[in-house]
Parts: sequence; C-alpha cells; structure tokens
Amino acid sequence: LLSLEGATVRFGGRAVLDAVDLEVAEHEIVCVLGPSGSGKSTLLRAVAGLQPLDFGRVVLDGHDQAGIPAHRRGVGLMFQDHQLFPQRDVGGNVAFGLRMHGAQKRQQAERVQELLELVGLPGADRRAVAALSGGEQQRVALARALAPSPRLLMLDEPLGQLDRSLRERLVVELKELFGRLGTTVLAVTHDQGEAFALADRVVVMRDGRIAQSGTPLEVWQRPADAFVARFLGFEN
Ligand code: ATP
Ligand code: MG
Repeated sequence: LLSLEGATVRFGGRAVLDAVDLEVAEHEIVCVLGPSGSGKSTLLRAVAGLQPLDFGRVVLDGHDQAGIPAHRRGVGLMFQDHQLFPQRDVGGNVAFGLRMHGAQKRQQAERVQELLELVGLPGADRRAVAALSGGEQQRVALARALAPSPRLLMLDEPLGQLDRSLRERLVVELKELFGRLGTTVLAVTHDQGEAFALADRVVVMRDGRIAQSGTPLEVWQRPADAFVARFLGFEN
C-alpha cells in the first residue's frame, strides 16, 4: 500500500529523515518507535504531504505522490497534539473531514453517529469539546481521522496525554477496532508497551534512519544493535 524509497528531509543541512526505505502492506499495523527528535513525526508528515521531501519518493498504491497535495492523498493523520476545534461540538469535529469530501447532509449525520459508536462515544455529537475528558477528546480526534475512510490511517502519539491505565484499555480497543475495519495503520509512539500491544510490525528510528524493523517479538528478542537494545531498556 505504502512505500517510502530513499525518503530524505533536510533542515539546515541536517538530514532529519535520512534515505528512509519503508513498506507498509494493506491491513498492516506498523508502529514507529524512537527517541524524541529521531524524525517520527516528520516521517508521518512526509507521507501525508505536509512535508516535502528533498530526495526520494512516497508511493501509495503504486502511484508516486510527488506534487499531490495532502487532501488528495487519501490518508488520515491524527496529530500529536490532536487539536480539536474548540468552537465546534463533537459532531462538528467528526464531520470536518466529511464536509471537505462533499458528503450529503443526511448521510453525514448518520456517518457521524456511526463513527462515534465505533470509538465508544455513542450519541455524543452535541457535546461541547471543552467538556470532554482527555480520553474522550482523543476518541473524538480518532473518529475525525477515521471519518473519510482513509486508505492509510496515521496516528502520531494517539494516546499521548492519557494516563497509563486508560492507554492500556484504549490500545486493546484500538487493536480490535482496526482489525474489524481492516484499517492500515502507521502509528508513532514512544511507549514500547503500546507499540508491542498494537503492532504487527515495529520500526525503531534513530537520527532519521531506521535502526530496526521487525515483529514485536523479533525486535524484543533480537535487538539489531546496542542502540535498539538500550532503547528497549536492556542494559548493555
Ligand atoms: P518527538 O518524539 O519529540 O515528537 P519526533 O521523532 O517526532 O520527536 P520530529 O518532530 O520528526 O521528531 O523532528 C525531528 C527533528 O527535526 C528534530 O530535531 C526537530 O527539531 C527537527 N525539525 C522538525 N521540524 C522542523 C522544522 N520545520 N524546521 C526545522 N527543524 C525541524
Ligand atoms: Mg513527534
């Protein structure tokens, strides 16, 4: 579904993405792990079309995405700081992506209800965003990202601001939801537990490069190098 070929992004002479090759198959859930500043968000932004590449290619369904703007790529991105629109109610937030895709009004209302049920907030469409808990806000952000049925859903620290017990519960729900919908997911996290619970495959980044890619078990049992081992919390 997705392939990155030699994807490179430079800021001020430094390669923040350094010739990254990455493939994501249809229905696969890939989690990107790595220290702060290793280029995880930049990777997602490049795939989404929000960050131009200096070299290399982003290919979706066999089509080079060079010059294709973000809203025409058919990918969804839930940002690190999820940023709901505070002046719109829950329904208005979820419908945002639908409106842009020109759906009819009635279909739109039905789809909003369906999405809110999916994320465990049935009937919440009239609620004010400011009156929601952090976990509820993240669910609304997720429903908004799912709304246009993106062929690839990208999540940047989707559970970032939540406490551990809520994260653990939501990760299980998300895994089940994505399995049921057959969603292809590329998710960033710096919580290993989350990555290992959610992912079919884990990608560990270091300084703009992929240090290791493998199933959670492979990465856990055979870290590719000392960096990955240390990052996973093994002492040398
Ligand atoms: P975190 O875990 O903290 O979110 P990250 O892995 O997502 O980190 P990125 O946001 O991709 O990291 O940033 C990678 C590097 O690129 C950082 O050193 C950052 O300062 C730099 N960077 C990102 N965007 C820009 C920009 N627009 N201009 C200059 N430097 C940038
Ligand atoms: Mg980031």
